[in-house]
Amino acid sequence: KTGFDVVIIGGGPIGIACGLEAKKNGLSYLILEKGPIVNSLFHYPTNMQFFSSSEKLEIDEIPFISKEAKPKRDEALEYYRRIVTSNKLNIHLFEKVEDVKKNDETFIITSEKNTYTAQQIVVATGFYDIPNLLNVPGENLDKVVHYYDNPHYYSGQKVAVIGASNSAIDAALECWRKGAEVSLIIRGPEVGQRVKYWVRPDIVNRIEEGSIKAYYNTTVKAITKNTILLATQDQDVEIDNDFVLALTGYKPNFSFLKMLGVNISNDEKKLPEYDPETMETNVKGLYLAGVICGGMETHKWFIENSRIHAKIIIKNIISKSVTP
Ligand code: FAD
Repeated sequence: KTGFDVVIIGGGPIGIACGLEAKKNGLSYLILEKGPIVNSLFHYPTNMQFFSSSEKLEIDEIPFISKEAKPKRDEALEYYRRIVTSNKLNIHLFEKVEDVKKNDETFIITSEKNTYTAQQIVVATGFYDIPNLLNVPGENLDKVVHYYDNPHYYSGQKVAVIGASNSAIDAALECWRKGAEVSLIIRGPEVGQRVKYWVRPDIVNRIEEGSIKAYYNTTVKAITKNTILLATQDQDVEIDNDFVLALTGYKPNFSFLKMLGVNISNDEKKLPEYDPETMETNVKGLYLAGVICGGMETHKWFIENSRIHAKIIIKNIISKSVTP
């Protein structure tokens, strides 16, 4: 079968919520996911712990049981995978969507494996695929990564962590605890205000006692095989370095949105145009769901506050098919 009422692009928590809601309401649907189930979560750091408590990550009130109040990445993988398998959701994995065209009222969706048609599409592709680059010489060296995984790898090594938000601070603390010599490179004057409230005192104390060396108001100028060159407020400083964890955030795939015909605001927020009442974009029948809605404001939407998009969208799709 290749024709559907709705095709959902992205099998993250919110894409899955949309699929479940479509199924419950008797719509024919397909979720297309370019990686495994909840690909972004799969690529989060191994030991990552959510800032949300588990009930706030639940889809459709299906209980999410975790050992601690705030679940770990592994528990979230269990939870979302079980939602897909036990509800037998129609999802094609490792099938990236490459092109979407609209022919009258019908969308033609071309993936790397097949072509489908749908009356409506939901784009729930998140923001985790494209890292914000430093754009400095040496960024392409193998020792520079934009996704951090496991601290064991960095034990006994000189590691520069770039960034001041949750990802960077978690990585800096973990690596230091496993025996890395950590320098934290922060563009602004302090550790980010959005850092989890129970983690902030930990990093502040580690910096104050000198365990982790923080460079504030500092940017990276260049990276070489054995060093990293920093521009501090006063002068350039070169430090010895084995690995660089550039954890400076991620951004949605704007060229994909533009290819779909979605208008993007012309300011630095780059907000996609959609009606918050229905989540429908300026392209009729094309909906946005999940964190992609925030444009460059990637902290604005998360699972907790965007899981509601699924119900809003499916309700709107159904209301369209009811003749007045
Ligand atoms: P994603 O989970 O990113 O899903 C998008 C999916 O689309 C991906 O699986 C991707 O592979 C797929 N995709 C992309 N392009 C294509 C394509 N062309 N074709 C097919 N598939 C495609 N939120 C919370 O509520 N609480 C938290 O505690 C929390 N902690 C977080 C910690 C970290 C380290 C990060 C990075 C985020 C955290 N978030 C948290 C945010 C939350 O993880 C994201 O909000 C969540 O993943 C968003 O779900 P989503 O379905 O919108 O997007």
